[in-house]
Amino acid sequence: MKVDILAVGVHPDDVELGCGGALIASVKEGKKVAVVDLTKGELGSRGTPETRKAEAEAASRILGLSARENLGMADGFFQINQENTLKVITAIRKYQPEVLICNAPHDRHPDHGRSSQLVKEAAFLSGLIRIETSLEGQPQAAWRPKHLYHYIQDDYIEPDFIFDITDTFEQRQESILSYTTQFNVVAGDGVQTYISKPQFMQGVEARARLFGKRIGAEFGEGYIKTRALGISSFDRFIL
Ligand SMILES: [Zn+2]
Repeated sequence: MKVDILAVGVHPDDVELGCGGALIASVKEGKKVAVVDLTKGELGSRGTPETRKAEAEAASRILGLSARENLGMADGFFQINQENTLKVITAIRKYQPEVLICNAPHDRHPDHGRSSQLVKEAAFLSGLIRIETSLEGQPQAAWRPKHLYHYIQDDYIEPDFIFDITDTFEQRQESILSYTTQFNVVAGDGVQTYISKPQFMQGVEARARLFGKRIGAEFGEGYIKTRALGISSFDRFIL
């Protein structure tokens, strides 16, 4: 099940909010994209793991994913330990991505930073042949992604590069709004949360406009890189 790009989020909806536009653009280019969610988001104040699963499936169709799976770690309490690191290594070796994208190094939700650290460590360790993992009884080959990027989600972080998502912005918003229990809740039952208020989605759009403006585009997504970006031509930048 090799893919070109694997995006990891700790909660279902993280990848839609953080890198949905780039994933949709990549699928349109013919690349294969998979998503791994670390937890079911069971501590969320609204919705249930079941509703979020159905919502994630709807969002996956909009993103055009080749695969999506949930590693079932504990929302809010998962630790960077051997068991969880091996779970992420197994997923990386299963999908063998060239590009791995994960949560921001720090964010409003403390799970995001911890997820980022877990995935970063697993990405390195996944390349060590003496760490043995198996999937469905078959030993897995070592695999280290060529590139690791972090998407910027809620906290403002100065991006290292910005992905132009002008052409995919509307589709990305649709994928976010697939989580109907989580976002844009105008009225009804249940508590209003930081993310369920309509103002939150206005903030999401404002952020995309801000990043877009920085590169002369209408909408953008900001990313952090973990090593220097190499170029082989001054013509390969878009703007
Ligand atoms: Zn999250």
